[in-house]
Amino acid sequence: MKIITLEEHYADQRIMDENNAFNGNRPQMKPEQAEAMKFLMSRSFPGPELLDFEQRIQYMDKNRIDMQVLSMTTPVTDLVPPADQVRIIRQANDITKEQIDKYPGRFAGFACLPMADPEAAAQELERCVKELGFCGTMIAGRYKGRFYNEPEFLPIFEKAAELDVPVYFHPALIPMEVQDTYYMSDSYSFIVGAELASAGYGWHSEVGIQIVRMILSGIFDKYPNLKFISGHWGETIPAFLERMDTILDQEITGLKKTVSEYYKEHVYITPSGIMSADQLEYIVKVMGADHVMYAVDYPYMKPDNVYEFLMDSNLTDEEKELIAHVNAERILHLQ
Ligand code: CA
Repeated sequence: MKIITLEEHYADQRIMDENNAFNGNRPQMKPEQAEAMKFLMSRSFPGPELLDFEQRIQYMDKNRIDMQVLSMTTPVTDLVPPADQVRIIRQANDITKEQIDKYPGRFAGFACLPMADPEAAAQELERCVKELGFCGTMIAGRYKGRFYNEPEFLPIFEKAAELDVPVYFHPALIPMEVQDTYYMSDSYSFIVGAELASAGYGWHSEVGIQIVRMILSGIFDKYPNLKFISGHWGETIPAFLERMDTILDQEITGLKKTVSEYYKEHVYITPSGIMSADQLEYIVKVMGADHVMYAVDYPYMKPDNVYEFLMDSNLTDEEKELIAHVNAERILHLQ
């Protein structure tokens, strides 16, 4: 069975250098923050594997992955001024296109976008889809503390709807005040707090709420064919949909549909390498197999059972086909 995975990161030294040139703009961290950052990077940052395509192809072959949809890991941070973001991001997307062309049939691309300049981001998405053949965009975190449901980002989603390509919401570092209030504590170590604030929970909580905020902003009434992709089995939101329907009812939202109706219609969910049979079963039950796609989160995650996890599940062959490749081919226009 053909396998297409959607949340597959890579990096390029040229773009890393461009981005790092602006690191001097970073506010001074407290010593314990700097220490924690260093530790966390050493624990989870797969530097060389982000850069090495031969190793990537070997991993794909070993796991019977036919195609990865590539996305570049953090090509720019918020420290990069808008005009430089536009320039660097354009270069980053051109490099992604070069990598795709080097290995025919093995890769597709999600555009990265200069979120500092939403109008330019919309134009870049159009260039990436129409000229470079990319199949959507992946956007991370929020921009300078602003969630992407705020009005200034609307041109990006309007363009994604017009081009009929999905937007994949990915986690990123959360604002320091959120980290301090919600995740740090005198009752456990700084490192434990920092991990809890990031991949342990904090990142995911932010992406989950971001998608709910998008729904509540009425974006799907405005753009009825807009599609989102949410990793990590939906970042905890699917389990809370009934509650939201009850509390955030249409009388107070003023929207055409309930929260769960929008979610189940417009959001597509991936595992992001969390190979949990219970989650697979639950999410297929809640969302339907036609709203689940596959993702490994390579090289941050490198499960060695990518093929078996799906094939050995209790799903029907038709459901497996949908998740393995059919949904991706349809939603990302990969035919
Ligand atoms: Ca990821």
